Amino acid sequence: MNVTVDQDICIGCGACQDICPAVFYVDEVIGKSQVIDEDACEYANCCEAAEENCPVKAITVIGST
Ligand code: SF4
Repeated sequence: MNVTVDQDICIGCGACQDICPAVFYVDEVIGKSQVIDEDACEYANCCEAAEENCPVKAITVIGST
């Protein structure tokens, strides 16, 4: 599974980190979400939920388990 966060679009709201902390981490210094472990999507099963709940649609998830 491939997961990306568009750094130009992300507003650092933290929703993805709340939904899927194994995969996303919001860096408070730069105010953007980072993908810390995209392989965690395979077992955490929350990447699609994060994608759907991102208010600015900055998350792209490609592939499936
Ligand atoms: S939910 Fe979207 S806008 Fe909010 S921190 Fe995550 S990637 Fe950024």
